[in-house]
Amino acid sequence: MKTKDQIEITGDNHISTSVETPLRTDAFKKTDDEKIKNIEHHFKMIMEEIGLDLTDDSLSGTPYRVAKMYVKELFYGLNPINKPKLSVFENKYGYNKMLIEQHINIDSACEHHFLPIVGYADVAYIPKDKVIGLSKINRLVDYYARRPQVQERLVLQILNDLQTVLETEDVIVSVTAKHLCVSSRGIKDKESFTTTIEYGGQFNKPKIRADFFNSLQNK
Ligand SMILES: [Zn+2]
Repeated sequence: MKTKDQIEITGDNHISTSVETPLRTDAFKKTDDEKIKNIEHHFKMIMEEIGLDLTDDSLSGTPYRVAKMYVKELFYGLNPINKPKLSVFENKYGYNKMLIEQHINIDSACEHHFLPIVGYADVAYIPKDKVIGLSKINRLVDYYARRPQVQERLVLQILNDLQTVLETEDVIVSVTAKHLCVSSRGIKDKESFTTTIEYGGQFNKPKIRADFFNSLQNK
């Protein structure tokens, strides 16, 4: 068991333990509806514990709304059943330069504080035999963002999947995001944001990486 001090240190340093999101073995034995029902109950307890009167019309529906939002929206990306189908196609054009998908929306949540992480991802790859539909990259980014996250893990999860389906190491993923747990609590820094970058293959070459960053509109 961690002490309360150790718990705070893990949160403020945003330490993650593995590339895989730590999940229970029985994570998806219950249906979404069962989860919503249980979370509704527990969230009601939290609201009552902080002193709110749940008989008030404005508050009475909040436990259900939060529960549904957790399961169906904010954290839908925990469940592998919701993973987008990453269909790839033969690279018939023989296009072998960099393809960049820029400014992909990131709406995530910090797993240490359950507060929003908002920002964007820039993703590029250099095709070999396979190419992927552009919107699939956006969907994959959204899928991995929609779970309690650590930003370093988010870029790795996106990178690993793209490298696998595209059958090439030549992929780069950059995420720039604001963490509300940094801006609205703790250090309360409103201006800072965090960038994480992971890459493989040809992107190990500084020149290729520079091409990528120089092509970004929002660099
Ligand atoms: Zn946090």
